[in-house]
Amino acid sequence: MKLLVATRSTGKAGEIRALFAGLPFELLFPVDLMLEQLPEEATLERGATYVENAVAKARYFAARGGVATVADDSGIEVDALGGAPGAHSARWALELEGGRENGEGGLDARNNALLLEKLSGVPEDKRTARYRCVVAYLERATAVPEIVEATCEGYILTEQRGTGGFGYDPLFYSTDLRMTFGEAAAAAKQRVSHRGRALRALIEVLLRRSKDGPAVG
Ligand code: IMP
Repeated sequence: MKLLVATRSTGKAGEIRALFAGLPFELLFPVDLMLEQLPEEATLERGATYVENAVAKARYFAARGGVATVADDSGIEVDALGGAPGAHSARWALELEGGRENGEGGLDARNNALLLEKLSGVPEDKRTARYRCVVAYLERATAVPEIVEATCEGYILTEQRGTGGFGYDPLFYSTDLRMTFGEAAAAAKQRVSHRGRALRALIEVLLRRSKDGPAVG
């Protein structure tokens, strides 16, 4: 079964490829269908909620790609910041501080610096946080979306540890793994991460459906 993954993030793409390895899905990314990046894509993730953003991305790419599409929207929620940056995680530093986007890596560094600054002086027991991931699947652009959601718990360290993962990973200490996602091996992160859990749940739904016969949607 062909499945378009609606992301241009290299960090996410690597994780998603690994999760689908060995399963009966032919994963396609926007570049595989020669879907060039258009300026309008930047507006797809400006909704107030993860669900809104994930569904918007899935619909947009399903319409352009003409195949079943999966999209995720994710973020980190820091309790001491009232759940921020949440659905704004990707562009948080840009939204708060302005300036120009300087590539995925550059923005990650700015986001992490901002997070440390916002939490400066906050004691360890008040630095709890979680990653949340919402995955939307559309069999075709006009279908009713299948939505799954998952979280993983942890807290925010006072300095970065490890160079693996992407985004906020070097600051996110996973309660399950007892290390940061930046220190964790990719497979260990997948086992407990918000994205790993959400996508495994979706994969189960899709495999069950394909066993039960053609889906209606
Ligand atoms: P979006 O889902 O494309 O809106 O991006 C989510 C943003 O949340 C990313 O750009 C990261 O800043 C952050 N994020 C989501 N999942 C992860 C993760 O697994 N590790 C690190 N950062 C993440």
